[in-house]
Amino acid sequence: MASRKGELFVKILLLLCIFRPSQGREESMRSSKAKHSYLKEASSFSTGAGKEEYDYIIIGGGTAGCPLAATLSHKYRVLVLERGGSPYGNRNISYLQNFHISLANTSPKSPSQSFISTDGVINARARVLGGGTCINAGFYTRASPSYVEEVGWDGKLVNESYPWVEKRIVYWPKVAPWQAALRNGLLEAGVSPFNGYTFDHKYGTKVGGTIFNKKGFRHTAADLLEAGNPKNLRVLLHATVLKIIFNTKGRQPKAIGVRFKDENGDRHEVFLNRREKSEIILSAGALGSPQMLLLSGIGPEEDLKKFNIPVVLHNQYVGKGMSDNPMNSIFIPTKKPVQQSLIQIVGITKIGTFIEASSGFGQSSDSIHCHHGIMSAEIGQLSTVPPKLRTLEAVREYARNKPSIPHEAFQGGFILEKIDGPLSTGYLNLVDTDVDNNPSVTFNYFSHPYDLHRCVYGIRTIEKIVQTRQFAGLSNDDAFSAERLLNMSVTANVNLIPKHTNDTASVEQFCKDTVITIWHYHGGCHVGKVVDRHYRVLGVTRLRVIDGSTYTNSPGTNPQATVMMMGRYMGVKILRERLGRAAGV
Ligand code: FAD
Repeated sequence: MASRKGELFVKILLLLCIFRPSQGREESMRSSKAKHSYLKEASSFSTGAGKEEYDYIIIGGGTAGCPLAATLSHKYRVLVLERGGSPYGNRNISYLQNFHISLANTSPKSPSQSFISTDGVINARARVLGGGTCINAGFYTRASPSYVEEVGWDGKLVNESYPWVEKRIVYWPKVAPWQAALRNGLLEAGVSPFNGYTFDHKYGTKVGGTIFNKKGFRHTAADLLEAGNPKNLRVLLHATVLKIIFNTKGRQPKAIGVRFKDENGDRHEVFLNRREKSEIILSAGALGSPQMLLLSGIGPEEDLKKFNIPVVLHNQYVGKGMSDNPMNSIFIPTKKPVQQSLIQIVGITKIGTFIEASSGFGQSSDSIHCHHGIMSAEIGQLSTVPPKLRTLEAVREYARNKPSIPHEAFQGGFILEKIDGPLSTGYLNLVDTDVDNNPSVTFNYFSHPYDLHRCVYGIRTIEKIVQTRQFAGLSNDDAFSAERLLNMSVTANVNLIPKHTNDTASVEQFCKDTVITIWHYHGGCHVGKVVDRHYRVLGVTRLRVIDGSTYTNSPGTNPQATVMMMGRYMGVKILRERLGRAAGV
């Protein structure tokens, strides 16, 4: 109920964007079509374009799905079914300055599908070829060697797979002034040493990589498909998978094909070829993969029966162990407008709290007239409507007046802290059998006291950073007390959690009431519970899950590097398993 009411609220709050195509858009789409000959609309399937059988059918052309497909296509016929459209020619995806627009666009065609967890936190999941890499903040950083060891990956292959991604789509950032201030502030506050520019996960402060190039142009996992063999690769866009089809006659259910609908709503079925080792691979993300297993009849029997889904395999763990790393941020108004920046610097503390920052307001003409979502400095303006008075009418009024608000009003930035490996976990359930609808998700933020303890540590560290010379010079009031900043942040943070009068007196309460997401949610198909350590779904054959839903902890400070690495890594592993040395990778 909270979730439905919340979705309505967010729709009205955020559905205020005007998408304005650029003049050069059609031209760039034409050239991208020639370059990406493997991309087709899903309806082309019925005209014979993709009517063959495949060695691999990958559900979800996202962060893991694209590098995986590219790698497998070197030796096998691969079909990728992606529910979203192409990222090419979409300025809201390509330009850093438009980062907030995709998140704010809640139309059915948006590359971002918003959802609200039952905790009351506004969140987003990708719906576009390239997945999360098309809508994220771009920060690129590897997992620690101890993480790789714990997961049981082959360290040598991991160290070959990260560079495969990096040489194609990763850059070093030009450090923005707000980020430089954070770097110096972190060091002054004792989060040291400074480790320079590095992808490695090291205690202290560092500059990480980014998938935005120096001009602020985004590269995505979809670009990794260019490394595949176009003759063996077919990618269908707007192909929404409805269910996985099993042959249940043998000893174990065997995945044999999938049913999907195209952009016109017409339904199709596509099958694996008869080769014994052909497989369906689910890479639909931490919400999409458990949802797809449930819709296909794999999950807790009692839940499946509620929706009249024929049970293929009872597994009580599907959708369990969902986690989202809680994020809390402090809003700092500034004297002058600050250059827009997403994440470039991170402070890695030994207690498992990570500190990052974002600043500024997208000044592009596309961006200026729309609300920018929860990570925008301008929510400081929305917060002039007190939380309890944020009625739909007040929000509409805000939207009407927004174009007349002077730019200077949008001045400031955030310093945020995120908890590593939250001990608080939750679950995911279907709310209906419509794959287009979000399942219900609960993360239970801060239900474990140690998570709360680490949040308090993070906020106290941010308070120290704000008091450093770096930020004293930037903020518009030299005498910002910690309490005043917390107070502003309580009103600036948009979630649907009721606020308390002691929010600024108790940092614990502040953490609970202003928790938002950094979108690193994961889980639902854990290793050992839903898949084995080769990511094969337990109890059935010819089906794997390869994406963020398999993680117990989110890797590194930010996960995309490792999710893409995992796509490449598993592609190579699978080729080597099937072909040995002849795999040639
Ligand atoms: P996804 O990339 O989401 O891929 C799943 C794909 O499956 C999607 O393309 C989806 O459309 C498709 N799909 C789902 N269901 C179906 C279906 N039924 N049929 C067909 N296709 C389907 N990480 C970082 O490291 N750095 C950052 O700066 C950063 N910032 C972020 C900011 C935002 C706003 C978001 C949303 C995420 C951010 N992340 C960041 C996190 C990171 O991007 C994700 O963890 C990662 O992209 C998840 O990858 P995945 O492969 O598990 O899922």
